[in-house]
Amino acid sequence: MRATALLALLTGVRQTSRGWSALCPGHFEKTPSLSICEGEDGRILLHDFAGCTPREIVAALGLELKDLFAGAPLPKGKRPTPQPAKVNRRSIALQFEVYGVLLKDRAEAVLQAASGLDAMAWSDHDFDVAMGAVVKAQDDRTHAAVLFDVADSQREKAFQGEQRG
Ligand SMILES: [Zn+2]
Repeated sequence: MRATALLALLTGVRQTSRGWSALCPGHFEKTPSLSICEGEDGRILLHDFAGCTPREIVAALGLELKDLFAGAPLPKGKRPTPQPAKVNRRSIALQFEVYGVLLKDRAEAVLQAASGLDAMAWSDHDFDVAMGAVVKAQDDRTHAAVLFDVADSQREKAFQGEQRG
């Protein structure tokens, strides 16, 4: 496949001096760490500055490493369409879920640590800081629940898309 066909499967694509950058489909991120360029032989070169391997990146898109070679036809159902989002709903769901789990775990740890504390001896400042952390943890827990809902709905849509063929 050509780089332009791969770009249609990615989000947050921007042109750079050597090729393009985009959000890595292999992990959850808000700022693009994936760099894409086309080698002289037409092969697509991928580098994720956050550490995902090319194999992990193409797997997240439902592709294989051999698809990165020039002239390799796009697998059936992977041809870019005006709505490429259909292709990686499962990957989006996974990203939301992983981030949700991180938030939730951190929030639970903070709330658990806060539950056994005797705050009577604390200074006002320490108390404010601790309460701030607790409020933030409660927000994070709510945020995580929203992320899980988004993941569920993305999976549901992916499933419906597959049922329709
Ligand atoms: Zn990555």
